[in-house]
Amino acid sequence: MSCPDPGFPQVPFLGLDTLWFQVAGTVCNLRCTHCFISCAPDNHSHGMLDLPTVLRALDEAVELGVQEYYFTGGEPFMNRELFAILEATLRAGPATVLTNGLLLDPRRCARLKRLDEGSEYSLDLRISLDGWGPEDHDRIRGPRAFDRAVAGMRNLWNAGLNPVVTVTELAEGVAGAEGRERFLDRLRSFGLTRPRLKILSLFRLGAEQRRGRGYLPSERLTSGDVIDPERLQCSSGRMVTSRGVYVCPILIDFEGARLGSTLRDSLRPFSLAYPACHTCHVQGVTCRT
Ligand code: SF4
Ligand code: SF4
Repeated sequence: MSCPDPGFPQVPFLGLDTLWFQVAGTVCNLRCTHCFISCAPDNHSHGMLDLPTVLRALDEAVELGVQEYYFTGGEPFMNRELFAILEATLRAGPATVLTNGLLLDPRRCARLKRLDEGSEYSLDLRISLDGWGPEDHDRIRGPRAFDRAVAGMRNLWNAGLNPVVTVTELAEGVAGAEGRERFLDRLRSFGLTRPRLKILSLFRLGAEQRRGRGYLPSERLTSGDVIDPERLQCSSGRMVTSRGVYVCPILIDFEGARLGSTLRDSLRPFSLAYPACHTCHVQGVTCRT
């Protein structure tokens, strides 16, 4: 068990309301140059989650009062059990899948719509973009990634599902009210007449350290910083991976952020000793929708 580190503020544990699953491990069909956990086709540092593992965590989560579920990777649709996993999850609560959109063909989108319609809870899909067009996005994500992501959005829309589009601050000028409005217009131009947009900060970890830069020594919390636990997802969320339960979706490459084998093991305060905690604190970042 980790001990409080007196050099850093501690985030209290307020109760578990959000549960993440690293459902595709660190395996992805892309190799984005800004990926903060360096996911790639050949990165198996975290394995895919199988259905029995997810079912065990869901049982525990329901007993603990979890309110919503998120699935990420890597690319979740590379997990062949994803649909069975979502079907089981949607019996317990609302679910959101974070995807690069490349595998969202019309057949998968129709299946997702059926899952959504068959549940009293909502199913949301989140597709990520890193630019206004292929010239920015594909530089980060690889050839044709932008056009394929937009095709995935349209397939969802045509199936009757309205995706949440996330865009990182690498899309120049997107932050701020005017940039946000222009990006919403860009999404309308793809046919999403009721666009939903979330803007994400960059974490200077993994591949992003090589593309941009790593954290500076000054980008670190200290014991004198007053944190607001309500703004930090680690006060009320946890991440299930093939290697155990981690404090949040951001720190799965750090053994010190592994809190145990089961959810119950993980329900305790955490010392905010990682540079990425500085980003969460300063920018109020949450990976939730
Ligand atoms: S940023 Fe997303 S799509 Fe890109 S490599 Fe990482 S997990 Fe895959
Ligand atoms: S990276 Fe963010 S969410 Fe994770 S432990 Fe640090 S403050 Fe909490």
